[in-house]
Amino acid sequence: MTKFYEVRRRDGAARTGKLSVEENYIQTPLMLRVDTISKKKGELEVFNVENPNFDDLSSEEAWDAPRGVVLLPEVHPLFTKVKEAPMFADFFVLSFASNMLNSPRDFVRRVIDARNAIPPDVALWVPAIATAENAALMFYMGVDIIDDTNAVLKGCQGIYLMEEGEVRLNELDELPCNCRVCTSLSINALKQKNSKERASLLAKHNTLVLDKEVKKARACIRAGNLREYVEMRVRSSPFLTAVLRILDSEEEAYFERRTPVARNCIMMANTMESLKRTEVKRFASRVLERYEPPARKILLILPCSARKPYSTSPSHTRFIDAIAGYRGQIHELILTSPLGVVPRELEAVYPAAFYNIPVTGYWDAEEREWVSSCLRAYLERKMKNYDVVVAHLSGAYSEICALVAEDLGIEIAYTCEANEGTTSKEALNRLKERVAGLCDDKRRLSGFEMKMSMIKAMADFQFGPGAGRQLLGEEEEGGERLKINGKFPSFKLSSKGDVLARIVPEYGLLTLTVKGARRIEDLLSSYVVEIGDFAPKGSILAPGVVNAGEQIRVNDEVVFRGEKVFGVGRAKMSGWEMVESQKGMAVQVREVEEIE
Ligand SMILES: [Zn+2]
Repeated sequence: MTKFYEVRRRDGAARTGKLSVEENYIQTPLMLRVDTISKKKGELEVFNVENPNFDDLSSEEAWDAPRGVVLLPEVHPLFTKVKEAPMFADFFVLSFASNMLNSPRDFVRRVIDARNAIPPDVALWVPAIATAENAALMFYMGVDIIDDTNAVLKGCQGIYLMEEGEVRLNELDELPCNCRVCTSLSINALKQKNSKERASLLAKHNTLVLDKEVKKARACIRAGNLREYVEMRVRSSPFLTAVLRILDSEEEAYFERRTPVARNCIMMANTMESLKRTEVKRFASRVLERYEPPARKILLILPCSARKPYSTSPSHTRFIDAIAGYRGQIHELILTSPLGVVPRELEAVYPAAFYNIPVTGYWDAEEREWVSSCLRAYLERKMKNYDVVVAHLSGAYSEICALVAEDLGIEIAYTCEANEGTTSKEALNRLKERVAGLCDDKRRLSGFEMKMSMIKAMADFQFGPGAGRQLLGEEEEGGERLKINGKFPSFKLSSKGDVLARIVPEYGLLTLTVKGARRIEDLLSSYVVEIGDFAPKGSILAPGVVNAGEQIRVNDEVVFRGEKVFGVGRAKMSGWEMVESQKGMAVQVREVEEIE
């Protein structure tokens, strides 16, 4: 349990938080200054759990400053005891952290095992190994505190640190930095200083570079783009690139439990590692597990567009124009990297409307393999839904589609000739003729139908299969008049004047009102937060949570239920974290209703 530390925001396993020290708040991720720790004793207290005062740590008494406990090595019996017999501490200090540098795998193991062994609401301090090069990656993994020990030591060794690595001072001809040390003197003046002064100046520069990196990482976590920053940062070192690749391939579950379901920023997929992101894998699996295509005769596969949502792009406007007369019989599926396949109804969700990729026409083998596997899995599961498949694709898109079709023995009608652009007049005419030939009569897609299928698909995608149908009510019964207002994609669903749900394009989410949530209450079990006997106002804090669905992630739309109230809101931490935490905001309340 923690008293002086609180996690504020989460971006994957990374967090920002605040540590209260002598009536001040310091932000995490934090770089501690080694000299201040030793000078100002009493600010932070660090205990070694093997010392005779170990019992003190199991009681809440005499705890008036941030308290840290040294996390013993994994082989020590007390390592796993930390969670079983909670210690009252605000942070844990990873022992023998320098062992992490033995191999990328050790680096991964030490941090992930430590983070898994301690409660989610305490901070983790990895001492003495931070550099400007590895700091962002450590924060990405869930480390909250580092220090400048290594930066100072390197200074004493005549080593000049930079964000992209280190260099010996005597190898430099000028100082490639604008910090207050490097702008105050020339490199020759620095080289001519006596060794003690030179070491101190270098240490100061090294610490400033590290501190700047910590500030940058904090800004990225707040903006929700630390992953992109880490992909860029690890490039300078094979060791750190290996760490990221091991995390992506071996620690999927660790990151899945911690990654938000939506963000209000664009996801940049610029590297090979972007294909392995939790957001990408989660999207692909939800399309397969939770999405049910509308009953239409023709499956039309289209290429993606730079502008999102796709249907607002010039190319998609033309595709839609070409098939307009028959759109009521066509289901549109967009082929794209790195998301694989995006059904038209899901084009506004996160991350389908929130990603950007470099477009060159060249697809590397791994990208082809991943996108092919998504298309293959989709067709294997949903092909029974359609009578016929049409592909309006060119270049690599078309090659991927052809290979998958051959694998599965599916016949596909192609409407673009080799080397023909998908928006060329000829290709668009061919598309139009082809769908006309396949359909006996014209059937347009009404605006209402389009909006209904979008809300239905988004509800299923977010809450699980069946949620959409239940939210909209059985159309067959036809007793109820639903209304959908708003401009694409900000649709608002209402019944008899009561709003049920809204699409929030800024996050790519569907939000529910209490009335909407009531309609699908029985299907929402995975997204329920049970709270104690109180009526929340603006937010629900972690100690008020009795239980919460395992599947809940940051920014998920949740329902909360207590003895007195029923309401809807947005999750600010994962469900498991709500249960395990003693501090922090669990749910931001949107609407609450008292139970009579
Ligand atoms: Zn400098």
